[in-house]
Amino acid sequence: MTATRIDGKAVAADLRAEIAVKVKAFEARARRLPGLTVVLVGEDPASEVYVRNKGIQTREAGMVSNEIKLPGTTSQAELLAVVATLNADPAVDGILVQMPLPQQIDTQAIIEAIDPAKDVDGLHPANAGRLNQGIEALTPCTPLGCMILLEKSGVQIAGANAVVIGRSILVGRPVAALLLAANATVTIAHSRTRDLAAVCRQADIVIAAVGKPELVRGDWIKPGAAVIDVGINRVAADSGKTKLIGDVHYESAAAVADVITPVPGGVGPMTIACLLQNTLTAACYREKIDPKSL
Ligand code: NAP
Repeated sequence: MTATRIDGKAVAADLRAEIAVKVKAFEARARRLPGLTVVLVGEDPASEVYVRNKGIQTREAGMVSNEIKLPGTTSQAELLAVVATLNADPAVDGILVQMPLPQQIDTQAIIEAIDPAKDVDGLHPANAGRLNQGIEALTPCTPLGCMILLEKSGVQIAGANAVVIGRSILVGRPVAALLLAANATVTIAHSRTRDLAAVCRQADIVIAAVGKPELVRGDWIKPGAAVIDVGINRVAADSGKTKLIGDVHYESAAAVADVITPVPGGVGPMTIACLLQNTLTAACYREKIDPKSL
């Protein structure tokens, strides 16, 4: 068997096009545009590229995009003051503080300072709690992207055995909550899991969110499973340059799986598209518009 490769770039482009249409419908009803503000502290080159792409794609979807760049020496009090200003600004629907933050800043304090109604990263405990209670919530973007890729690939989630490798608040825990909400039987594996290979072999759906290059091998995969690789690992390439690889050994896993995401070009492109979706959803909630009615 050779798995079908899930084209995350194409799914993300379709989603962004759908969002752009809905933004117009939102504007007609709310008489304003949804707005996203991204706060970048310091000069991490990867974050700068990511923030630039977010800005471009937000504007392409017809929304208002603002970027606030702060020096790497910014104190926690200064960043909290910026967040408070954005919380109070009626034109701002979504606030995203780009991680990682410099060492002098307590990341959790910043996450908790963001108004949960504007928390388009879905990391505030109020949103995480709502997600775990199965109540509508702003949900972290990468997990949302994983779910959309599974659905668009026709994977049967209800009743499936799903194994999520990783338990971060950013990916592992929220994607497990989304799978549970979709009626999968969910196992969350982590660095202390015994015999991870055997746990994975039980899975109809494997979500790898570990950050360990090609940890998951083909002989860990149940024939016919769906494999979603969230990992982004930069490693040395034969050319002497660097390349991105996932947490799954693609060739061996693709030989047994039914569907599989590549890295790059799988989950990655979905994250910004889902951020746009969350911004529109947050704007709808704030305007008391049902997002499903757009
Ligand atoms: P993280 O916070 O470092 O969490 C990694 C998780 O993997 C932890 O729960 C850890 O277990 C577990 N783990 C580590 N080594 C393991 C092992 N040998 N066996 C089993 N589990 C192990 O990472 P993250 O933020 O969730 O990100 C995970 C990966 O996804 C990274 O490569 C990251 O770059 C990527 N990512 C991609 C996107 C995207 O847009 N595609 C977005 C976010 C993240 P413990 O809890 O026991 O330590």
